[in-house]
Amino acid sequence: MKRDLISIEDLSDAGIASLLRHAAAFERSGASQALQGAILATLFLEPSTRTRLSFEAAMHRLGGAVITSADPQASSSAKGETLADTVRMVDAYADVIVVRHPAPGAARAAAKAAKAPVLNAGDGGHEHPSQTLVDLYTLEREVGRLTSLTVVLYGDLRYGRTTHSLVRALVRFGAKVVALSEPGLELPDYVCARLAARGAQPAAARIRGLDALFPGEPPAVTLFGFPESRGGGAGVWSPSDGEVDAVYVTRLQRERLPAARADRPVLPSVDARFLAVPAFRRAIVMHPLPRTSEIDPKIDGDRRAAYFRQAAFGVPVRMALLSWALGRLHLDGGGPPAPSAALAGAAPDGPGGCGEPACISVREPSSAPAEFVGAADGSRRCAYCEGAWR
Ligand code: ASP
Repeated sequence: MKRDLISIEDLSDAGIASLLRHAAAFERSGASQALQGAILATLFLEPSTRTRLSFEAAMHRLGGAVITSADPQASSSAKGETLADTVRMVDAYADVIVVRHPAPGAARAAAKAAKAPVLNAGDGGHEHPSQTLVDLYTLEREVGRLTSLTVVLYGDLRYGRTTHSLVRALVRFGAKVVALSEPGLELPDYVCARLAARGAQPAAARIRGLDALFPGEPPAVTLFGFPESRGGGAGVWSPSDGEVDAVYVTRLQRERLPAARADRPVLPSVDARFLAVPAFRRAIVMHPLPRTSEIDPKIDGDRRAAYFRQAAFGVPVRMALLSWALGRLHLDGGGPPAPSAALAGAAPDGPGGCGEPACISVREPSSAPAEFVGAADGSRRCAYCEGAWR
């Protein structure tokens, strides 16, 4: 079976834990020639710095070679070539393909077109699973564990894809998650439905004790994985001193915001005042980067500011990921990856299609013929982007 990573759901819990152990070994051992003779193609149809360069650095560190197409305007997609045709060609040149594309669902379409394993480096606002592996590695290294964490997700949680993959993994590892989002930019329904199916029902809440931080419009608050009632009753989060292990900050995804949503952040930046709140006393600050105004550079020197270390962990984590995808590394207890729930049980298209206009199956049906999967609640979702079926 081909080792694609399209969704974080493609890896079992044991598989993730094992991959992170291998990443730690790569971090200790540095370079090797283990992938000599193999070719990685990075096909990036959307801007990137860290993800592409850390994949490429990882391949170089393992003795492999890299070919890249990183400027959409300089690739044949600018001439109207479909994603499926582009991927078929790249498949003839490389042993593993890393794809970033502006359309949600595009990574799955690419995986269907390629014989080589495909790793999703971000498909529109949908998922970014390799970033999640980096995030989990960071939590393990900096907090010391992956289980029983309390994590605050902060910012644009609707259009930011990194949190869509991360929150699924956090809930699987038993975390309590506090989603503090820009008003109107809460986690999308399909993510909440997935978390609910795993027993982490979203609970809308108010926060108590952080009024000084949010004098203006308060954030939208949703709790996942918390006991029914706490801190003065159901629906209230009043954090105790030192309760939070990590604050995961994201920027407003201006490239995907609808025109109707003002292009301005409402939530205050994470700064010295924010970190002085007792609940965040121990919390590391993470960010997938690039940051805009949501983290004050003045806290960069604070030992809790983990975001640049997090970016550096991208190399050993992606060394492990590439080695796995190329069949050179066995994941203990992982066996073959659990099939992605987004891929499992896919039915051929019938009447209807994906209701998400940005989805690859809507934008480019020849690359991604419409397919749905049945969701746990009996509804149908698009097999590519998990959008509602119409
Ligand atoms: N670099 C991350 C991504 O590609 C985060 C971001 O762009 O805000 O999703």
